[in-house]
Amino acid sequence: MTSDQDFDVLIVGGGPVGMLLAAELRLAGVRPVVLERLPERSPHSKAFGLHARSLESLDRRGLLARFRDGARSWNNGHFAGLDEWVDFSLLDSRHGYALLSEQTRTERLLEEHARGRGAEIRRGHEVTAVRQDADGVVADIVAPGGAYTLRAAYAVGCDGGRSLVRRAAGIGFPGTGGRVTARLGDVVLADPEHAPMGMERTGRGLLFCVRLDDTYHRVATFDFERGKNPDDDLDLEELSASLREIWGDDLGAHSPRWLSWFTDSACQAERYREGRILLAGDAAHTHFPVGGQGVNLGLQDAFNLGWKLAAEIHGWAPEGLLDSYDRERQVPARKVLENTRAQIALMNPDPYVTDLRLLFTDLMRREQVNRHLAEMLSGVTVRYPVEGPGHRLLGDFARDLDLRTGDGKCTLPELLHEGAGVLLDLDGTGRIGEAFEEWGGSVSAPARVRHVRAECDEEPDLAGLLVRPDGYVAWAADRAASDGEVGDGLRAALRAWFGTV
Ligand SMILES: Cc1cc2nc3c(=O)[nH]c(=O)nc-3n(C[C@H](O)[C@H](O)[C@H](O)COP(=O)(O)OP(=O)(O)OC[C@H]3O[C@@H](n4cnc5c(N)ncnc54)[C@H](O)[C@@H]3O)c2cc1C
Repeated sequence: MTSDQDFDVLIVGGGPVGMLLAAELRLAGVRPVVLERLPERSPHSKAFGLHARSLESLDRRGLLARFRDGARSWNNGHFAGLDEWVDFSLLDSRHGYALLSEQTRTERLLEEHARGRGAEIRRGHEVTAVRQDADGVVADIVAPGGAYTLRAAYAVGCDGGRSLVRRAAGIGFPGTGGRVTARLGDVVLADPEHAPMGMERTGRGLLFCVRLDDTYHRVATFDFERGKNPDDDLDLEELSASLREIWGDDLGAHSPRWLSWFTDSACQAERYREGRILLAGDAAHTHFPVGGQGVNLGLQDAFNLGWKLAAEIHGWAPEGLLDSYDRERQVPARKVLENTRAQIALMNPDPYVTDLRLLFTDLMRREQVNRHLAEMLSGVTVRYPVEGPGHRLLGDFARDLDLRTGDGKCTLPELLHEGAGVLLDLDGTGRIGEAFEEWGGSVSAPARVRHVRAECDEEPDLAGLLVRPDGYVAWAADRAASDGEVGDGLRAALRAWFGTV
């Protein structure tokens, strides 16, 4: 076990987001510890799947094969339970599908990845308080071996929607309150052959039913009228009553292995950073799980934050780099909150909404509309705007380019596996390498940015691309650009994103 003095970052919460963040920080050479109150991983999966942007990002860490191994994928998803499906194969991505990876599996794979990278994970350790001063953060922890405190330079709250860390940092969590109550059970059905599958809207709400395995089905009711006392648990009797009320039949549900309930409250942290305390995942944003976007959104937080926080700890972060985490990640979360609220509005059992649903269903038959929704749910159009005039690719997620380098064939995702930035030099004139040397690139150790000379048939006009560790484009120039534009622009971008060497 690492000495308690040695940690740079306390990660509170070992869900999918905390585990990925731990791995990202290790990759960048800092020392995180994950403090997770559950002694074991939960056997119950909230989420079922991963969308295209998550898959693209996992590919940039060499993890995609592990996630795809033995997992089914599907091309369609629902939007508000409408009759027409969203078609993910329309996406401009090599991963135009959703991967079936239950949350327990996703968490296991990410935990293995974090441990494999050397992250320390302490299960059964509950954080009861977090405070900060000018030099660092301190957490009070209750663990089986007794209570203790831990100090580090930073703390990140990955501790879910009811985040203690968020409250300790005094960060507000405004949003819309819950009006819809979802009652969910993983249950055995009396007659699964004749159970309604998918999403069914009735005059009282919605029924959701999917097969989990040979024995269990997940059923859920979305009730627009009957709420719940926040302090009460859900039992089978209440779930069955809700099924009868909304569907007219309780499907003979019995032997629940998991019962849970939640509302459509949608909230977002006012800011993702307060001094040395940051938030990621559900601690920063919660919403109704329509469209299966929550894990995906949180994983993108972790990819965005990891390298920036590591840069700050290593002391080379340029001014404003860590704050760019809040700026860049607020917008995608706000958009997810908006689209989940829109879906809830379309699900409303009010007969007035029925015609709206018909209209939307009709619109979804148009490829452009369907693609728009697929892009929205899968997160593939997320970009991080860079101020001022710039190249068309600036701020976009760098594409899966096929490359030829001196070492043979490779892809751009493969160059990002070790978590350093990549300066892709397609120019062949030497001016990009020169600017990189002037910045001091080859003397930085460990490498913040790898300079890779390559050829690429897909981008014949492109001279070079500077890709951040999370896969987004920080600088790009075409061959037609003058030497001055290329040199000055590249050095400025290197300084802005990777500091001075
Ligand atoms: C029914 C349902 C279905 C869903 N389906 C999908 C889906 O298909 N796709 C999708 O992308 N998302 C889905 N979501 C959302 C998804 O489950 C969440 O967005 C995701 O779990 C967030 O991950 P996280 O790591 O941020 O937080 P969590 O998974 O909530 O993890 C937080 C962790 O912190 C720990 N913790 C909390 N407080 C402390 C403390 N004080 N000390 C130590 N540890 C602490 C908790 O034990 C927990 O392990 C669904 C959600 C629900 C409820």
